[in-house]
Amino acid sequence: MSASSAELLRAVKSRIEEIDPGQVHSHMADGPREGAGAGASTADGASPHGGSANGDSANGASAHAAPDDGAAPVIIDVRESDEFASGHLPGARHVPRGYLESRIEGTVPDRSAPIVLYCASGNRSAYAARTLTEDLGYEHVQSMTGGITLWKDRGYEVEVPRALSAEQRERYSRHLLMPEIGSDGQQKLLDARVLLLGAGGLGSPTALYLAAAGVGTLGIVDDDTVDLSNLQRQVIHSSETVGMPKVDSAEASIRALNPDVQVVKYATRLQADNIMEILAGWDIVVDGADNFPTRYLLNDATVRLQIPVVSASILGFDGQLSVFAPYRGPCYRCLFGSPPPAELAPSCGANGVLGVLPGTMGLLQATEVVKLILDIGDPAIGRLLLYDALAATLTEVKVRRDPDCPICSRDPDSITDEEMGVFPDYEAFCAAAG
Ligand SMILES: [Zn+2]
Repeated sequence: MSASSAELLRAVKSRIEEIDPGQVHSHMADGPREGAGAGASTADGASPHGGSANGDSANGASAHAAPDDGAAPVIIDVRESDEFASGHLPGARHVPRGYLESRIEGTVPDRSAPIVLYCASGNRSAYAARTLTEDLGYEHVQSMTGGITLWKDRGYEVEVPRALSAEQRERYSRHLLMPEIGSDGQQKLLDARVLLLGAGGLGSPTALYLAAAGVGTLGIVDDDTVDLSNLQRQVIHSSETVGMPKVDSAEASIRALNPDVQVVKYATRLQADNIMEILAGWDIVVDGADNFPTRYLLNDATVRLQIPVVSASILGFDGQLSVFAPYRGPCYRCLFGSPPPAELAPSCGANGVLGVLPGTMGLLQATEVVKLILDIGDPAIGRLLLYDALAATLTEVKVRRDPDCPICSRDPDSITDEEMGVFPDYEAFCAAAG
């Protein structure tokens, strides 16, 4: 280190607060940081905002609470991804110093929260602490003296993330190169459980790309067999699998593409009497259903189970996509309170569709799924994207939650089996289309 950089470091350290690893360790032993319980804030009576009785208090109370000595801080590792992957403080979040400005808000939105930064030896975290305090307005930032090196010397515990195998590092190398994904993100993808409704036009490309990306468990619900007329767009199947159940054909393609992926097959139709059982335990549902009764049923069950649904539909040259995240945004019934006129319903018989269109829409779905798993970007929640293939335009329509929605305006536990999937009689509905 040159004389001038040593001076600069000294100057920076004189302007920030430092904390000894021993103190960080004892904070950890106290357990995770508490969300400023009502008892604590009223007992000291110090906060002028403490008396606020609105419904936000459960989420907002900590914003006004000064960090007392007992509150465990948010611990952030500011080293590079490979350093973090080789071992970090238990429970530490990872925000590399180079991404501090762009990512800290996503990691710690509350600027009054106590934060401890660390690196290898305490220098990079000192610079990072200055940035958080002086440039970004964080109020209680400390840099851990001696970094993880001193932490280890003291004999404190280090958490080593599960490592990817050499083959996985090669297979997912283009993900590992992206700071937004890295090995942590790839591990999240491998741990994710995504249920695909249908292995048809939309489900085919979605399943293939999710499998390629390393989404570890894919469920497929489809009771159909592969037909020659499917192959114009359902690219997960092939001429050799015509006549085979779609779930088996899809499983074979996924296995061939990526042996990391477990396939759970449901060779059945999603119905009121099996939906709760099938949906249990999945993180995200991809809706490629081709009929309205299933879409309404799926909506009602996923709101009840609070599972996000990435939904798309196609007809002719047009596609639609939205993400329905229960209670965060509108549900399918908020958007389509009643089904469209029967003559416009695409599911009442065979309809024409441009062969490449489900590929486009299915991959938009796959993209939204990956974003939800990684918790990155801006998912299409509360937005309906309309793709016009002939015009080559993508239009966005904002959608709000309906305060009178028969399903999502209510508590999830109050939605009964009898109310799920309520929909006009389907035969009659289609017959009316003539
Ligand atoms: Zn709703």
